[in-house]
This record gives sequence, structure tokens and C-alpha cells, in this order.
Amino acid sequence: MNFLKLLAEQFDRIRFLLYLFGLVLILTFRFQFKHIQSEFVPYVEDALKLTKTFTAEDLRYTTIKFRSLPEVEGDTYIGMCYPIVSIIHINPKFWYDSTDAEKVLLLRHELEHCVNFSLLHRSHKELDDGCPASAFEPYIPNVFCANDHYEYYMQEMDDNN
Ligand SMILES: [Zn+2]
Repeated sequence: MNFLKLLAEQFDRIRFLLYLFGLVLILTFRFQFKHIQSEFVPYVEDALKLTKTFTAEDLRYTTIKFRSLPEVEGDTYIGMCYPIVSIIHINPKFWYDSTDAEKVLLLRHELEHCVNFSLLHRSHKELDDGCPASAFEPYIPNVFCANDHYEYYMQEMDDNN
């Protein structure tokens, strides 16, 4: 076997390995949120921009999907997390009736339960304008509070995790 042929074969092998490496990289990136319904992905990405308690990497095995949720004593559940299996159910009625800020806060709230294992809600306190002091109470702040204090709420969940 002459030297040039051997060299060409080695290059082929290297090129194959590079392709393989590239493919793995693309698949990893493509399927980063593979268990998250596509509707939620942009809002999860928005949440990650202002979140220090978990990263995109931590969401590899997290499922987020629509599911109609029960009404209990007059309160309708809008999101629910099953922590160990990391499954989040979102009530479609709430979702399609909400602003971007409300959607991101709801997902962040459920991800704090499911990914960061924060299980206990905070008790109710109010800001000067009457809005709740946290988005980690049992209720998500209403549309006005969510829009006005969006960054504050995201920061509060970083600070008090
Ligand atoms: Zn909760």
C-alpha cells in the first residue's frame, strides 16, 4: 500500500469522525427540549434569560404539555408539576388567554417546582401597589402585576430559591 493511499484513508476516517461529531452536536442542540411541546419552547427560552436557578441543560428530561386540569373548590389549576418524573401540565384555557409575561411566569413557577425542587409556596405579601410580592405564591400574579413587575418577579425567584 503506498503512502498517499494510506494518508487519504486516514483523512477519510478523520472526516467521518468530524461529520459524526457534527451530527451529535446538531442532534443534541435540536433535541435539547425534546419533551417540551413546541408551543412552550419560546417562553421557556425567555424564562432562561432571567433565571439563575436552572439552565437549559437541566431541562433535558422535563416534559411540558397541555392537559385540562381539575377545578378544586372553585379554583382552577393553571399549571401542575410532578417533581420526580419532571412532568408539567399546563391548562390550555389559561394559556391561550394570557400575555407573554404571564406565560413565562407560569412556566418559571412550575419549573422551580419541577427542576429546582422548590416545593413550598411563599405566603402572601404585597408590594406597595397591591400586587403580590412573589410569583411563587399559590396564585400567579394577575395580568397587570405580571406585566408591571415581570423582571422583579423573575429576580425574586432567583433570590429566594
Ligand atoms: Zn406552585
